[in-house]
Amino acid sequence: MKTFEELKKILVINYPDADINVVIRAFHFASEAHKGQKRRTGEDYIYHALATAYTLAQMKMDLNTVAAGLLHDVPEDTDFSFDDIKNNFGNEIYTLVKGVTKLGTFKYRGLERYAENLRKMFLAMSKDLRVIIIKLADRLHNMRTLKGVRKEKRLRIAQETLEIYAPIANRLGMFRMKSQLEDLAFPYVYPKEYDWVQSLVRDRLKTETKYIEKIKKLTQKLLTKNDVQYIQIKGRIKSVYSIYQKLLRKGKDINKIYDLIALRILVEDVADCYSVMGMVHKRWSPLKGRVKDFIAQPKPNGYQSLHTSVFTDFGKVAEIQIRTIEMDEEAEYGIAAHSRYKEVGILGKKKNPPRWLKHLIDIQKTITDNTEFIKHIKTDLFLNQIFVFTPKGDVIELPENATPLDFAYYIHTDIGNQCIGAKVNDQIAPLTSTLKSGDVIEILTNKSRKYPNPDWLNIVVTSMAKTKIRSQIKK
Ligand code: MN
Repeated sequence: MKTFEELKKILVINYPDADINVVIRAFHFASEAHKGQKRRTGEDYIYHALATAYTLAQMKMDLNTVAAGLLHDVPEDTDFSFDDIKNNFGNEIYTLVKGVTKLGTFKYRGLERYAENLRKMFLAMSKDLRVIIIKLADRLHNMRTLKGVRKEKRLRIAQETLEIYAPIANRLGMFRMKSQLEDLAFPYVYPKEYDWVQSLVRDRLKTETKYIEKIKKLTQKLLTKNDVQYIQIKGRIKSVYSIYQKLLRKGKDINKIYDLIALRILVEDVADCYSVMGMVHKRWSPLKGRVKDFIAQPKPNGYQSLHTSVFTDFGKVAEIQIRTIEMDEEAEYGIAAHSRYKEVGILGKKKNPPRWLKHLIDIQKTITDNTEFIKHIKTDLFLNQIFVFTPKGDVIELPENATPLDFAYYIHTDIGNQCIGAKVNDQIAPLTSTLKSGDVIEILTNKSRKYPNPDWLNIVVTSMAKTKIRSQIKK
């Protein structure tokens, strides 16, 4: 339970020199408005508002967003209206609160509800991403207090969390939020599977923790001996839900999961990242194919880090991640890390939303049939992503199993229509080949070609390419 004192404390730490008055006022306003109201857990309602605001302050969101977090349930659940919010806190906070409230009301059930929910999320995202971030913070606390909710409702909320909110957090690069939501929803949605994973992991984690502690000490010694300044070395434990998903991929064999615990080394700057990696590799040899440089080639969602797996002294493998403090915050908070209080409004006024978001907004506008819509979203939002490159070195994100044709249509409709072949890593490759992360793709075109081959519909996997091909064929 987060108190007002705790909120104030984190504000002082995370927003030095800032005027936090708007948050203080929002707290007093909200506690007056919710006075006497209780949540199903028996707690005073204001603690829900406080928890939401606390999460936002932890991510260092701008202060208007933190204030909106405190006020987010006021118009819907109290005697105060939207106008009261507007008159007391101005237009920006009013717009945020209104956006969050709109997201929360549903008319339908089942599939219709699911589709409507997704559509609303994309619409809100296209206007101001901060609305979604407040909604995620709100959902996080609702999940933490889910025990207090009626049983049938509990399952529905947990399912929604797993199917909608966690994937969106993932897509926004908010990995900490994503795994917290997943781990909270997991035992409600899949109780048997949850118990199973817990029973598998419990003993392993004990031995692994001891092992990683040893590696940590050796690494500390290594870095000190070589005179490298590091800020922190910590063990990071894989979240229960991602262990579960990995188990499903690895034939349910817990012994095939090497990264239950990874060692994370935080350093001052990029140069230190590479020198630490060099030192680690000099000491322990790396596993082939497991060295990944996401600093030189960041993922499109902004993720940066060096990853390696090494054979250690104990005849075992250890995964090591090396990154700067900024990269670490970015990895945990994703897009929220770009809306720091110093850059207020960047998210709100963002002129160029990420391409994947623009695409999802297009889908939500053009596809009115809900079953079709959900089918599209499922490939584009939830499928595992790969990262490939244009010949110029731009990173393009595509779903797993994407083909050169998906790539071509992603770049431009004309490039797709005029496509007569492709080179993958300088080698001519069939249009049916599946791309892998790291591939460099060059599309060969013939400018006199105007229309796609209808057979391509059976080759492409992205809904973007499908939609474009279909509309071209119609013409
Ligand atoms: Mn709420």
